[in-house]
Amino acid sequence: MKRKMYITGGVGSTVSGEAFTGDYDLPNDTMYCETCAAVGMVNFAASMYRNDPDVKYTDVLERALYNGVLAGMALDGKHFFYVNPLEVEPDSCHHNPGKGHVKTVRPEWLGCACCPPNFTRTISALGRYIYTKNIQTKTLAVHLFAASTVNVDFDHEFFQIEQKSHFPFSKKVSLTYRSQKKNSFNLSIRSPNWSQRFVVKLNGELADAEFAKGYFNIQREWKDEDEVTFELDPAILTITSHPKVQADAGKMALQYGPFVYCAESIDNGSNLSQYSVSPYASKKMVVKKSDLGELNLIQIEASKRKESEAWQDKLYRFDHLEEEIKETLTLIPYFAWGNRGENEMTVWLKKK
Ligand SMILES: [Zn+2]
Repeated sequence: MKRKMYITGGVGSTVSGEAFTGDYDLPNDTMYCETCAAVGMVNFAASMYRNDPDVKYTDVLERALYNGVLAGMALDGKHFFYVNPLEVEPDSCHHNPGKGHVKTVRPEWLGCACCPPNFTRTISALGRYIYTKNIQTKTLAVHLFAASTVNVDFDHEFFQIEQKSHFPFSKKVSLTYRSQKKNSFNLSIRSPNWSQRFVVKLNGELADAEFAKGYFNIQREWKDEDEVTFELDPAILTITSHPKVQADAGKMALQYGPFVYCAESIDNGSNLSQYSVSPYASKKMVVKKSDLGELNLIQIEASKRKESEAWQDKLYRFDHLEEEIKETLTLIPYFAWGNRGENEMTVWLKKK
């Protein structure tokens, strides 16, 4: 997580053994990052949290789930990636044997059918990642923000918590306690690392909460219809990598909430590597309904190196002054890439 994990929560830097390699060795176009490995990362992070309740584990769980795992399945629910690259140039994948394992569109099936069932069992067990309960400390922890209901049994004390959320399209989340009986327990709510502010209210008043290891803890006697509310405050965040990650040197990526973003050539034209963006460039979020469904898109002002006629059949030139044109680059959530046919994709963008 500190030296060998991609920003998508993916792991496995090489196809050889689908294995880890050296520290900070994170190539974006030849890695493996199997969907199963991202599922493993989710389960590993969940186990670490159970041993040591700390947001540093659940931040990783969410990153892997919403990016590395979700990208494993097409939006039609019928096609699957085993390998999850952060950069794809289809022609190079077709002709370079070192990239032969990188599929440019999701196949229906592969001989080793591990990822599709691993994906489906993970999504169908989502409840265990949204909530955990600790009977010893009488704590119900809320890790993820998704509309859901959880029935809790604390040693024959039964109650229900209903979570209302339409994140990422709405920032408001509410948790309502339902039981004819009063119950004393600790409600522990994760404050994610991507939320700029996090103010928790109980029945409309500022909650008396203790903050520990990234969680707001409200210990009290709960009665029917008690309601906890908070607003998530995501921004479009710019990510840079550790200076030792050679593959990402001079590059940046964008994230909104837990979602890592990427550019595809179907939205931006070919040769994505010729785009450059400034961390300070004007950027905005646009909600759009398209053939990808309803998605938050990021639009950022960018420059693109012009491919002038002077190049013609030349591969190299002396003393060439670059000519750039202003463009608006459109980015989509990484999980939605590769759903509109074969095209280029990149998560990391050249920084100006
Ligand atoms: Zn697999």
